[in-house]
Amino acid sequence: MSSKKVVVVGSGITGITAAYFEARKGNSVTLIDSDKRAGGLLKSDFSNGQYFDYGTHIFSETIIPKLNDFLFSDLDCNNCVITDKIETYCYFNGEINFKNACVDINSLTEQLYLKACHELMTASDKAANNLESFFINRFGKTIYEEVFKNVIKKYFGLDAHLLSEKMGYFFDMSRVIAFDGPATKELTKIDKFNRKLGHHVRESGVAKYYPKVGGIGAIVDLLLKKVDREGVNVKLSTNIQKVKEEKGKIISLLTEDEKIKVDRLVWTLPSSFLTYLSGNKKGFPPKFRNTGLYDFTYEHPLNLKSVFLNVYDSNLYTGRVTLYQNLSKTNNYSCTVEVLTDHNVNLSRLIDTIQKELIEIGVVDQNNQCVFKQFRPIKSGFPVLTTEFLESQSELSKYCENYFKNVLFVGRNSGQAFFMNDVLTDTFEKVKGESNVK
Ligand SMILES: Cc1cc2nc3c(=O)[nH]c(=O)nc-3n(C[C@H](O)[C@H](O)[C@H](O)COP(=O)(O)OP(=O)(O)OC[C@H]3O[C@@H](n4cnc5c(N)ncnc54)[C@H](O)[C@@H]3O)c2cc1C
Repeated sequence: MSSKKVVVVGSGITGITAAYFEARKGNSVTLIDSDKRAGGLLKSDFSNGQYFDYGTHIFSETIIPKLNDFLFSDLDCNNCVITDKIETYCYFNGEINFKNACVDINSLTEQLYLKACHELMTASDKAANNLESFFINRFGKTIYEEVFKNVIKKYFGLDAHLLSEKMGYFFDMSRVIAFDGPATKELTKIDKFNRKLGHHVRESGVAKYYPKVGGIGAIVDLLLKKVDREGVNVKLSTNIQKVKEEKGKIISLLTEDEKIKVDRLVWTLPSSFLTYLSGNKKGFPPKFRNTGLYDFTYEHPLNLKSVFLNVYDSNLYTGRVTLYQNLSKTNNYSCTVEVLTDHNVNLSRLIDTIQKELIEIGVVDQNNQCVFKQFRPIKSGFPVLTTEFLESQSELSKYCENYFKNVLFVGRNSGQAFFMNDVLTDTFEKVKGESNVK
């Protein structure tokens, strides 16, 4: 087998995975990142004696055994919480739904609730072409207007008709709790209702992993060691300044201090950045919400038993809250709050507001002393997937895939997937597709 020079750009989980499987094929692999740390959204920061994660918190098993072997075979099971159920609650209308992650419409007024239930049962379920029609066709107009319209504005900053229906699967918005347990159990035997009703009994899923110590970044560190053992050359703090292309083939990359030859390029950044660097067709770069993370550590345990809490209240900045005591099953009484807001909001000034919101929501009691707090910005956090952007992205992707003969476009920036398992599966299939993984 002849060894190829493979360059992987972006050392998030996509780049690390692609680099490993390319190296397993016998290729000579270089993994490049502009950041000084590898891991992308799967890093953990150590502050005041605790680890705070960056974006994603949990690794779940995939449907591909070889990928699972790469992700999990080096894990120390003594330092890991392995579970097949993740407890998530949802806060809406001043109440927490303790059953699961989605909104409970029982907190609507009786009149609205009855109207909403009638519409839910008779909704058209037609395919949607934007986020507004996603909600209306799935749940009816009342649930859309009374629940999701303002949540969408809070999370994505735009009216739902401008956004892609794909965003309906973010923040557990694709289901609602509407009926009691026995009625839900009966209804969810019918596929049409099973797709949109939240279950009362949490069902087991695939195995999920979280380290007791070290945060999610501890898993990524193990993966980086694996990649290192396969001989991958990891170059951090490295910016690509130019890309040399000949007849649709990328032949080299120019960084601040060297020219790197390329037989094959694995690109985990937006494709518009590659077309820009190679002086080709222009595409719109993706837009992201102004995204910030707020970490708090308390003296005593937090009030909730869930790992996550989705906050749908549009009067509050607080988005998803992660409670580390339930994630790591240790006495780590810390939480991270994700906030997505407009770019004119100064995120660094919100920390006291968020602290008060946690009391208002009921995550923590007023007399539970906060012993540490910090704000961390996320540079390219949540994407705002407008229908217009996705159309231009799809056109650009088709162009790039046809034009560039030796480039694989993978990862969340490829616009094909956002959630980690989808991104990982897509990457594995594409890298494998080039030739069989050993
Ligand atoms: C706040 C947040 C919470 C999330 N929670 C979940 C969740 O609960 N479940 C789930 O499934 N998914 C979640 N996701 C999505 C998940 O994190 C992503 O699917 C996954 O991390 C994507 O990995 P990636 O490698 O494609 O991208 P990234 O992790 O973004 O990695 C891209 C890498 O490219 C590097 N880079 C950027 N610019 C350059 C450049 N010019 N040159 C070189 N390198 C560059 C970056 O430094 C980074 O290391 C979340 C995302 C966010 C933002």
